Amino acid sequence: MTEQEKKRRAAARRRRERERKRRIAIGVSLALICIVAVLLFLFVGKLMRKGSGASDAPAAGSSAVGSVNSVPAAESTVSAAPVVQETISFSDTDVHTGDLILINSVYGYDFAANEGLENLVNIAENQSYSYQVEKPDYRLSADVLPHLDAMIEACDTAMGSRETGITSAHRTIEYQQNLWDETVANYGEEYTRKYVGVPGYSEHHTGKTCDIGIFYADGSQGSFSESQNAVWMRENCGQFGFIRRYAEDKTAITGISNEAWHFRYVGFPHAAYMVEQNLCLEEYLDYLRNNTSEAAPLSVTDSTGSYKIYYTAERTITKPSGAYKVSGDNMNGFIITVTE
Ligand SMILES: [Zn+2]
Repeated sequence: MTEQEKKRRAAARRRRERERKRRIAIGVSLALICIVAVLLFLFVGKLMRKGSGASDAPAAGSSAVGSVNSVPAAESTVSAAPVVQETISFSDTDVHTGDLILINSVYGYDFAANEGLENLVNIAENQSYSYQVEKPDYRLSADVLPHLDAMIEACDTAMGSRETGITSAHRTIEYQQNLWDETVANYGEEYTRKYVGVPGYSEHHTGKTCDIGIFYADGSQGSFSESQNAVWMRENCGQFGFIRRYAEDKTAITGISNEAWHFRYVGFPHAAYMVEQNLCLEEYLDYLRNNTSEAAPLSVTDSTGSYKIYYTAERTITKPSGAYKVSGDNMNGFIITVTE
């Protein structure tokens, strides 16, 4: 073999070697592309199945407070179904809204936070059961009125008469200021502090509160405090979402003297539990804050169903799996009520 022949053969070997390497590289690339394509196909298929399934799932959860966010949890492999961890978020303003907000001489009503949420309607024009309303312009929250109607109808039915009516409902801050000034002028400041909320600190600002009275057929009024209606309502208000807010044995806590006539809507099943356990709103909110959490909720059953209730001071929580309601406490946290 000549030197030239040796060189030619060596060059041909190198060419064959390069060609072999090129083919291997193409083969490996094609295989990788195929694997990626299959994984993508599986992943997209799963996403589409998940998307179509969501449309017929029942809408879980409802709340006037907070917003729902979807945060995809960390994924370790492409082929596993994506786990979506839903959360709900609240703002500091939300703390001052909801059925369970505490209004007393320390915690005033936040008018700005509740703007647009009160949904006030005229009682006489919207009542579903006919009862007397002392003044034709009295208004109450549209969400609360049906429960008041039901409570008054049940009371009248139990009494065998139609004498239960309304002597006060929603009050603007101007109305409360006039009432305060008039009461101070007529009875003095000491008396006024016992019975009238300081303007801005009255539950009547919420639209969830009313005063109940006795109205006779001739238009005159009787004493609700001394009536059997008052006894019935004190014992049964919880079944309609209401509490008697200022009881005789709680004046040291509420700061307001015994008022047989003043009822506040706090919702289900809170009212039934508070009446049964003889807790005023201050005590109930204290209890929830000190004794409950998402991991250790309070279980309560009333005539409307079974619920789990817990307090949180967090601004973002895991979205409850069932229907839920959120209320601020008007202090620093939230009460979550989950339907079981
Ligand atoms: Zn009142």
